[in-house]
Amino acid sequence: MNKMDKPKRNTKTKQMVMDVLDNASTALSHDDIGARLGGTMDRVTLYRILQSFCEDGKVHRIFGNNGKTYYARCRGCVAGAHHDNHPHFRCLRCEAITCIERPLAAQPLPAGYRAAAATALIVGYCPECFENIDF
Ligand SMILES: [Zn+2]
Ligand SMILES: [Zn+2]
Ligand SMILES: [Zn+2]
Repeated sequence: MNKMDKPKRNTKTKQMVMDVLDNASTALSHDDIGARLGGTMDRVTLYRILQSFCEDGKVHRIFGNNGKTYYARCRGCVAGAHHDNHPHFRCLRCEAITCIERPLAAQPLPAGYRAAAATALIVGYCPECFENIDF
């Protein structure tokens, strides 16, 4: 038997996690994904699935400045080569983290530095919260 053969159950579990990420309008934390799966998935299993999606270029990680890590679907990334050089937005009111699908403006660097990738986290209010907020 081929050692690379994974049990079918694993494929189905992965598909469930991918469905949650596909249907999300914002990036999701490990806990958010677990909750959307009904709280039945083992934390380590979920962590490993997310890890493999990141390696496969299907999902990218976003580090929130609240100490949490979020996951979002990639567009056009391949295994081992992510091109998610877009900013992310964290809403201060509802805490939603969203991919902003616009290229990150290139930052002028001092002589001798060569950029390979860039990330940016913008904080503020999302459109829904901004509408409903009492300043
Ligand atoms: Zn990516
Ligand atoms: Zn919001
Ligand atoms: Zn993103």
